[in-house]
Amino acid sequence: MPKLAMHWWILIGLVAGVAYGYVAALTGHTAHVLDFIAPIGRLFLNLLKMIAVPLVLFSLVAGVASLNDSSKLGRIGGKAIALYLGTTAVAIAIGLVVVNLFGPGQGLATETREKLLAAYGEAATEKAASAAQVSIVDQLIDIVPTNPFGALADAQMLQVVFFALMLGIALTRLSRRVEGTAHVIKVFQLLSDAIIEMVQVIMKIAPLGVFAMLAGVVADLGKDPGALGDLLSSLGGYMATVVIALLVHYLVVYSVLIKVFTKVPWSRFAKAMIPAQLLAFSSSSSAATLPVTIRCVEQGVGVDEEVSSFVLPLGATINMDGTGLYQGVAAVFIANALGLPLDFGQQLMIVLTAALASIGTAAVPGVGIVMLVIVLKQVGLPEAGIGLILAVDRPLDMCRTVLNVTGDATVATVVASSEGLVHEGERHHPAA
Ligand code: ASP
Repeated sequence: MPKLAMHWWILIGLVAGVAYGYVAALTGHTAHVLDFIAPIGRLFLNLLKMIAVPLVLFSLVAGVASLNDSSKLGRIGGKAIALYLGTTAVAIAIGLVVVNLFGPGQGLATETREKLLAAYGEAATEKAASAAQVSIVDQLIDIVPTNPFGALADAQMLQVVFFALMLGIALTRLSRRVEGTAHVIKVFQLLSDAIIEMVQVIMKIAPLGVFAMLAGVVADLGKDPGALGDLLSSLGGYMATVVIALLVHYLVVYSVLIKVFTKVPWSRFAKAMIPAQLLAFSSSSSAATLPVTIRCVEQGVGVDEEVSSFVLPLGATINMDGTGLYQGVAAVFIANALGLPLDFGQQLMIVLTAALASIGTAAVPGVGIVMLVIVLKQVGLPEAGIGLILAVDRPLDMCRTVLNVTGDATVATVVASSEGLVHEGERHHPAA
């Protein structure tokens, strides 16, 4: 391959994938894309998912054990959680301001509304049913795994994080009394390095994986070009509102946080994050993107592993600025479209419930809209309302996942800076 930075190759893969999927949809040749090309994308995603759990386990145990100061761990965790909550609340507020300014959904033709509700009503009921099973108390209790190996097997990230933290702390305590503990910690360190090495290898096929994922998504969306045109004309305003609000949050909140609270130049941060963002966009999953986010933040931004190994997996699970923002915009859009406008008090309620709902959203495609049901219920909107927006959820999921991942990286960088744990310039993996 000629010498081009990796993110350019991924970007080329992305554009080519969109173009290929589009042409296939236009010419009615979507079957081969869905049957043969999209699976390559799923294969690539499986490779990333394969390493996400071991990476979190090994690097977190190694990171915590090397802290040898548990008060530092509490401090880092406290700062990260406070920033995660704060940035999510701000994101939702930005979403609400933008949606109130633009007012999408007001005056949506009754006929369009009925058509959408009829076409997506059944799917909406299914989503609402899965949301009914979510209980916040149960989710909190479930952070402690009854069987850590089960947690690893089921990729329950928060449970893995909890177990890894406990194991790391236990090893640190043991190392004061038992000789040889340092060797065990070293093993975890080396295993974590080995997994990062695997990320390097897997990323070599990222352009192809991204091409295949995008071709699949676009071909699937464009199977029925007439219906797609109708959808865009009725829901285009809503989609644009979500995208504009996401951009405002990225350009204002993250750049201010990086510029004011760190010494990292914004341009270095923005450039380092591109591969993770492109992957988040293509996969719609912050969990699958996590190994690449970790690599970008450590090697591109220069954040020390002590912070990234803990703060990023935590963020991938609980911090979803993009999802919270989207849920706020979507709730107001649905209210407008149904002719049931929300007052100020109800919108404040949205900030609270969307923040909680985004924490409870799993970092995989399409869960944000399931958790939206909880937000709608809280402000007294019918849950069937999600039928209005279901058809265009995938592209918005792609966009909000980019923000989710960037938010985690921003907080990790700010926390690392406050602890003096950001290294100058780009760092390279020992084996790279
Ligand atoms: N796809 C999102 C993520 O993985 C979650 C969502 O909003 O559906 O970050």
